[in-house]
Amino acid sequence: MKIIRSAPALERYVALLESRAPRPVIGFVPTMGALHRGHSSLVRRARRECGVVIASIFVNPLQFGPREDYRKYPRPEAADIRLVRRSGADAVFIPDGRRLLGHRCLKRTYLARLAKPLCGRFRPGHFQGVVDIVALLFRLVRPDRAYFGQKDYQQFRVIEAMTRRDFGRIPRVIMCPTIRERSGLAMSSRNRYLSSGERRTALGIVKALRLGRKLIRQGKEGRPRILKAMRDTLKKRGIRRIDYVEIAHPITLRNMVQLRVYPQALVAIAVRIENTRLIDNLLVKTG
Ligand code: AMP
Repeated sequence: MKIIRSAPALERYVALLESRAPRPVIGFVPTMGALHRGHSSLVRRARRECGVVIASIFVNPLQFGPREDYRKYPRPEAADIRLVRRSGADAVFIPDGRRLLGHRCLKRTYLARLAKPLCGRFRPGHFQGVVDIVALLFRLVRPDRAYFGQKDYQQFRVIEAMTRRDFGRIPRVIMCPTIRERSGLAMSSRNRYLSSGERRTALGIVKALRLGRKLIRQGKEGRPRILKAMRDTLKKRGIRRIDYVEIAHPITLRNMVQLRVYPQALVAIAVRIENTRLIDNLLVKTG
């Protein structure tokens, strides 16, 4: 596996790929490192579907707020390189942060209205930082297919909208299922911050989501009661700092008042456990 540390070197590598006959299908998996099985599932999927797989590891300062965990975000580079290699990537791009942020192709990028609700209300500037860097990476890697996780559902939808508007039909962006620990806890780089007690507390998130899913499927309760039951579950588990518990329309991401207006609902939660912000979601059939 090739380790590429600068944008010009990446551009040369991609140019070489594009000169091959036939040109291989390029798959791309952008990450912030501190990799786990969720990330490797994306790389493996790309491996199955593409001729060449490029991953990137870049802790993007533009997507962190001033009081967020940019500085202490884990950066276990050697282990990350081993994991992408084992998962089947052909190359990993690990740029120097400051040089990448000075790149001529970095620009303010289209941010869909989809960025406003849910996490957008609690992390101002976050999605703008995400789309700016993802668009830059797309310009450098020129992938045919790019892979993202459902765990960051809103991020996926925002990137999908940006891609459609600024890049047309290529790359095709693909959403992959959330990988969970045996306990049900969604894998996240931020789980590393949690003590074992806090991990048990964090299980309240998936418990509340599954309760929400059950109640929606049963179809007896309306939105307010379901949200209350989910909040109660979080509180019972000791989670008091709740950013949101929401049932949203999976396309518009707006609050879903009538649960049966669309065949699916997005049940989504963001909480803080001590200083760690955790998010998770489920897509639920409503009919
Ligand atoms: P991050 O490194 O957290 O920015 O995530 C990089 C990519 O991995 C994003 O597309 C995430 O949605 C995806 N990802 C993170 N956690 C998981 C998970 N548990 N299952 C599947 N994909 C994930």
